[in-house]
Amino acid sequence: MREPRDKRLGMDRRISRRDFLNGVALTVGAAMVPRSASSLAFELALGDDAPEKGPGYYPPALTGLRGSYEGSYADVHALRDGRFWESAPSAADTGEEYDLVVVGGGISGLTAARFFRQRAGRAVRILILDNHDDFGGHAKRNEFREGGRTLIGYGGTFSIDSPAPYSAVAKGLINELGIDVGRWERVVDAKLYASLGLRRGVFFDKETFGADRLLPMPGRGGDDEGADSTPASPGPWTRFMAEAPMSERARHDLQRLHRERKDYMPGLSSAEKKARLARISYARFLTDVAGADPGVVPFFQARPHSLYGVGVDAVPAQDAWGLGFPGFQGLGLEPGPGRGMNFDSIRHPEAESYFFHFPDGNASVARLLVRGLVPAAVPGHTADDLVTTRVDYARLDEAGAPVRIRLNSTVVRVRHRGDAASAPDVEVTYARGGKLRTVRGQKVILACWHTVIPYVCPELPEDQKKALAYGVKVPIIYTNVLVASWTSFLKLGVSQVYAPGSYHSGVNLDLPVSIGEYRCARTPEEPILLHLMRTPCKPGLPARDQHRAGRMELQATTFEDFERHIRDQLGRILGPGGFDPARDIRAITVNRWAHGYAYQYNSLFDPFWLEGGEPPCVTGRRRFGRIAIANADSGAYAYTDGAIDQAHRAVSEVLA
Ligand SMILES: Cc1cc2nc3c(=O)[nH]c(=O)nc-3n(C[C@H](O)[C@H](O)[C@H](O)COP(=O)(O)OP(=O)(O)OC[C@H]3O[C@@H](n4cnc5c(N)ncnc54)[C@H](O)[C@@H]3O)c2cc1C
Repeated sequence: MREPRDKRLGMDRRISRRDFLNGVALTVGAAMVPRSASSLAFELALGDDAPEKGPGYYPPALTGLRGSYEGSYADVHALRDGRFWESAPSAADTGEEYDLVVVGGGISGLTAARFFRQRAGRAVRILILDNHDDFGGHAKRNEFREGGRTLIGYGGTFSIDSPAPYSAVAKGLINELGIDVGRWERVVDAKLYASLGLRRGVFFDKETFGADRLLPMPGRGGDDEGADSTPASPGPWTRFMAEAPMSERARHDLQRLHRERKDYMPGLSSAEKKARLARISYARFLTDVAGADPGVVPFFQARPHSLYGVGVDAVPAQDAWGLGFPGFQGLGLEPGPGRGMNFDSIRHPEAESYFFHFPDGNASVARLLVRGLVPAAVPGHTADDLVTTRVDYARLDEAGAPVRIRLNSTVVRVRHRGDAASAPDVEVTYARGGKLRTVRGQKVILACWHTVIPYVCPELPEDQKKALAYGVKVPIIYTNVLVASWTSFLKLGVSQVYAPGSYHSGVNLDLPVSIGEYRCARTPEEPILLHLMRTPCKPGLPARDQHRAGRMELQATTFEDFERHIRDQLGRILGPGGFDPARDIRAITVNRWAHGYAYQYNSLFDPFWLEGGEPPCVTGRRRFGRIAIANADSGAYAYTDGAIDQAHRAVSEVLA
């Protein structure tokens, strides 16, 4: 520990992460195989003892480093590095034969199993394999206990929410699962935080802006919003102009960008302007086109992080216009998307009204899918009772069941038994508990990440493998911090904080949602979950290189490092409101998604996206013999509905 600062932050305090090492329970010993990274020999010694059947196996309650936790990716990385087969034991044939084997137990894989069953008949036998200790892929549930109650958080996928309207197929699935999106307004207490006087804030950190300062977020229009701005209680812009730790010119330009209705590109048509904006970053637009002081750029830098995983240096100005960023009011751009815009920057009113958030995000969608596939594992009948239902992991993989979900199983090889055009079936080899096993499938759907597929299925054509390797998934961290109360938020008047220069660019109070028997925190004295987000990236590089650099950073960051950043940042933002990180933090779960969002194309870096040509995701997802490819990567679209639509296509292909 780096005394005495660490002591002040509470790095020595007992929180529930102390009982766990990197999100893997130590206390249950062999009942939960710690598939620790390193040594295959160690795993061999443990044997294949079905940890999911052990008492206490309940991954949602694990704290510490989760998401892609230590060990979950060891086998795939060994494959990538060409080391895996050097020391691998020989594979034992389980003798299991399935109509369909699905690789990847995320929403795409689970949906593929459901659609296959619906179309091929309920008598079919399906096996789903996933390398993690829990199903759902990115759609993961985090649970905490405090003061005799359970608090539920989302470790990944936040909500049913997509920039484009859900397709008929995706909407049909959501309806079939019993999710009534139209009920959203009734389950969320949308006015709770506003009724307590809480609003959005912006935190300036001293490393970036020269001083630590939390201010109300100035908004659209550039004038003080609301009639509540008085000399005694100034509005956001008044406080911003007086107190923001930025140069006078930068502050002035920031307000000008919001207010001004000037055409910075006179003489060009709307289409010509859009074409130019597609080729420059928003950062360059601000300084070179709108003539703003470079000091405004750090203020905007992290604004697109939650969608793009990179900052304004790598987001096209045309996309920034679509996202509603300031500076475009006077350009006279015609409504409607311009060529090359990223899906995220295109607004569809229909899509905007299709929204639903469960306390565990879309882990509820995954849990409902599993309830349909393996009813014994997920008791209950409705989307409401699901929220507090405890999954029985021991029932997921039962001999004789038509659908089996086998966790802790990394697929390392998928190959036709013979020529792809005429082979009778496909052999799938997976590593589990240090042993290699094979099963056979009449059909296989690879619902895992595109980047993994060339290593797992080397028999694919070379051009397809190259296309599969093109997209670089966006690294992202979603952290849940359990705190004893949120009185500090009340004192500071914020419910969400944008922190453009800090380690985490966002700190939010959990959304106040109550469903079924689950009740959100309603008074500031109650415990609550804080949600922190970081998308590591390296400004200045092309987007895919930024994601690679971010991933390297994540891999090299220990839980202790994350914890120190969390305690430091929360202390600095909330300390003036009475928050004491040493006293108030009760538990931390860091969901590390080194391979997060599917890569979406960007007009600055992906020429085919602007100029035309087949995108790599289309080449990459081609059916090959008895093998089809699903996963959100197949649509280069980082949303749940994309994962569903791709599953639907893949099922149609294997059944064709
Ligand atoms: C932090 C975060 C927040 C998000 N928020 C939203 C949101 O609010 N709304 C929204 O619509 N979308 C959101 N998304 C995107 C959404 O989660 C995904 O598009 C969707 O869930 C992807 O599902 P999938 O099944 O295609 O992939 P995944 O969920 O990634 O599942 C694939 C699974 O395959 C496994 N796998 C990989 N290789 C192997 C192997 N060799 N053997 C066995 N298993 C393997 C992976 O570990 C993983 O479990 C978010 C994503 C992230 C990361």
